[in-house]
Amino acid sequence: MLEKKIYLTNTRTHKKEEFRTLTPGEVKMYSCGPTVYGEIHIGNLRAGLTADLFYRLFKRFGYKVTYIRNYTDIDDKIIKRANEEGVEMGVITRKYIEAAEKNYALAKMEEPTRKTLVTDHLPEIISMIESILKNDKGYVTAEGDVYFSIESFPQYGALSGKTLEDLKAGARVEVNETKRNPGDFALWKRAKPGEPSWGSPWGAGRPGWHIECSAMACKWLGPRMDLHHGGEDLVFPHHENEIAQSEAATGIAPYVGTWVHNAFLTFSSEKMSKSLGNIVNAIDFLSQYGGEVARMAFLSVHYRSPFDFSPETVDSAITNLERMYEAKLAAEKLLDQKIAHADPVAESLWGGFFIDCDRTKNSILDHYANDLNTSGALSELFALIREWNRIFATGNAKNTPAAILAAREFIKVLEDEIGSVIGVGRMRAESMLSHLASLRALRSKNEGREVLSDEEVERQLAERRTARAGRDFKRSDEIRDYLLSKGVEIKDSPQGTTWTRK
Ligand code: AMP
Ligand code: ZN
Repeated sequence: MLEKKIYLTNTRTHKKEEFRTLTPGEVKMYSCGPTVYGEIHIGNLRAGLTADLFYRLFKRFGYKVTYIRNYTDIDDKIIKRANEEGVEMGVITRKYIEAAEKNYALAKMEEPTRKTLVTDHLPEIISMIESILKNDKGYVTAEGDVYFSIESFPQYGALSGKTLEDLKAGARVEVNETKRNPGDFALWKRAKPGEPSWGSPWGAGRPGWHIECSAMACKWLGPRMDLHHGGEDLVFPHHENEIAQSEAATGIAPYVGTWVHNAFLTFSSEKMSKSLGNIVNAIDFLSQYGGEVARMAFLSVHYRSPFDFSPETVDSAITNLERMYEAKLAAEKLLDQKIAHADPVAESLWGGFFIDCDRTKNSILDHYANDLNTSGALSELFALIREWNRIFATGNAKNTPAAILAAREFIKVLEDEIGSVIGVGRMRAESMLSHLASLRALRSKNEGREVLSDEEVERQLAERRTARAGRDFKRSDEIRDYLLSKGVEIKDSPQGTTWTRK
């Protein structure tokens, strides 16, 4: 276990609080996963990545973590889709669970301890509803629906900050005759023709959405857990209802120690929605750009801040990954060299860098412990990269003992601290840089800019070398400017000329 304390913003108190667990050294966490009736979009991906980030954080800090994530596989939208396609509900849910899994693997999300399906938990759901009824917190209507009675649960509204009065006022227009209070919500819905149903003490029917998560979470984590995550749209009513149901059924409070919610992903500050036609499926993005670009783009923004998705955010993720992997490539190359004799100037420079690595590692962990400040952690890494590049550019002996140690330590910071939590930086530099170069080429092409092939760049560089050898500096500069206009930047050094795509 690391000595550092973790502080997280709890949605229930709106405060950054020290994160304490029920059992020291162990975390029990639950995250609301997708409803599987279609491809997940990049907003859902943001939610998945946020849960993954918490999971990775706790593991990095040395906790034993039990992480449950669900697939909602009983829902109105799924039934509608199945009826439209004339297939059983399971055909739809299996297809989209598989699709979601593919996305999660591409996004380098770590496997939860358990992934749960509502269809596997009908007995637990029914037994939880029975407990709620036994404790007088719900009622059965003449038609065979079961509702939770929010008036029977005085703490209702504590998570979202809504009062019973607000709820009554807000819902008046939609008063449903069979409910005692417009804010009451369904625990069990009686079967309707053309809908799948399960047997229950109240007749055939299916569970309401909210009870599903309560039952699955309580089954695998018990009546109390340390952390519960979801997107901010779930605060009300979903999570408010989860608290009411679980606490009403078990009589144990609080159901959740720390509630965390990620802000939404937007497009030019607009919501992603079918009616605006701006939905980007996660698979389209991930199969083109890969998990590291997605993670770098998404996790450069704090999980509680809105993330405005744009071509610029993708470009800057590519640029940042290039900076990171170029430095890693230099370090990897250095480790391949034979160790030279110590050199006083080099040893002092690289010795200082070695100390910087240790300080950076600490600062990165401090940022993580401070409400998962991933952008803060990344800026520490980029400060270290700047220092690495600065020392490298001095041309001081690069394969002395201290240089080798520094390179090893630099890779360790990148892979162990950034790689473990943010989930980027663990690839071999050369293959990642060539992937990034092809993405850049593709993006430039999309912008209508001509892209020079690697061979063409090399041909131009050879011509420039000839010009320089003949002291034709005018021609040499022309070639440099031409390459720059095509997005290729060259750097001359005593070791020769290198180039990168910008
Ligand atoms: P759903 O399938 O709608 O239940 O959503 C699955 C998860 O994605 C939930 O945690 C939602 O809160 C979250 N979510 C949905 N849309 C977005 C979005 N645009 N940005 C961030 N999270 C989202
Ligand atoms: Zn849920």
